[in-house]
Amino acid sequence: MRNKTESDRRKFILTMARGAGITALGGLVWSAYVDEVTASSLILRPPGAIKEEDFLKTCIKCGLCVEACPYDTLLLAKPGDNKPLGTPYFIPRDIPCYMCPDIPCVPVCPTGALDEASVTTDGKLDINIADMGLAVIDRETCIAFWGIQCDACYRACPILGEAITVEYNKNERTGKHAYLTPVVHADACTGCGLCEKACVTEKASIFVLPREVAMGKAGNYYIKGWDKSDESRMEEATEIKTETELSKEKAMDSLNSGMGDLY
Ligand code: SF4
Ligand code: SF4
Ligand code: SF4
Repeated sequence: MRNKTESDRRKFILTMARGAGITALGGLVWSAYVDEVTASSLILRPPGAIKEEDFLKTCIKCGLCVEACPYDTLLLAKPGDNKPLGTPYFIPRDIPCYMCPDIPCVPVCPTGALDEASVTTDGKLDINIADMGLAVIDRETCIAFWGIQCDACYRACPILGEAITVEYNKNERTGKHAYLTPVVHADACTGCGLCEKACVTEKASIFVLPREVAMGKAGNYYIKGWDKSDESRMEEATEIKTETELSKEKAMDSLNSGMGDLY
């Protein structure tokens, strides 16, 4: 495996050298190169990776994490991958992260681009707190939502019962049957992608996205009224102005205006 990785790295360096020669040929190729360097919003990084913006400044593209991975999960971006060149990433549908308990890819990083502290609990490496991304479910194409029995993603999850659970639903269409559908829990999902790999649909109906892409943000203007500790966020609240005619109305007016349709 090590020989394969080294040959991959040699190929990568050769390709880079060729790429460098080609860039001298013109602005078109140079702009493609710049795109690859910056097009990273959908990239999935190894466990322990620091914030993407800082990661790009800190990773020296040495490939040590790639070499340390026993499953060949990690790849170094090469020209044409449309990822920042030379940086490590993974594609869960091809090879997910198998969540090694000793996380060999992290301690080898010489620069802190993969931060050991972020995957450590009580002085021990803890892959269960890794945050590589978040699995999201396409309820339109997930066959469990059609009523077909499938729990492939649920069974594939290394933190089954916490990161992913199944929910009981009554089949309103037939009125007779019940079915179970998967639910991902953002607070426990590591983004390992084992569920994506296991999904039985032609194109995965559960897939991992970088967390900041997968999740919205309520902001500090809205609080959970039932949660006293949540009120502290109001202190820094800033008003959000919205643009549509309807959203300029007060929430209560807006609700009342729709009530006419109900009676
Ligand atoms: S935790 Fe294991 S499988 Fe996942 S990227 Fe690191 S070395 Fe590879
Ligand atoms: S070991 Fe660290 S510096 Fe080297 S390629 Fe991996 S993330 Fe980058
Ligand atoms: S990515 Fe999927 S398999 Fe991995 S922890 Fe999240 S729900 Fe479980």
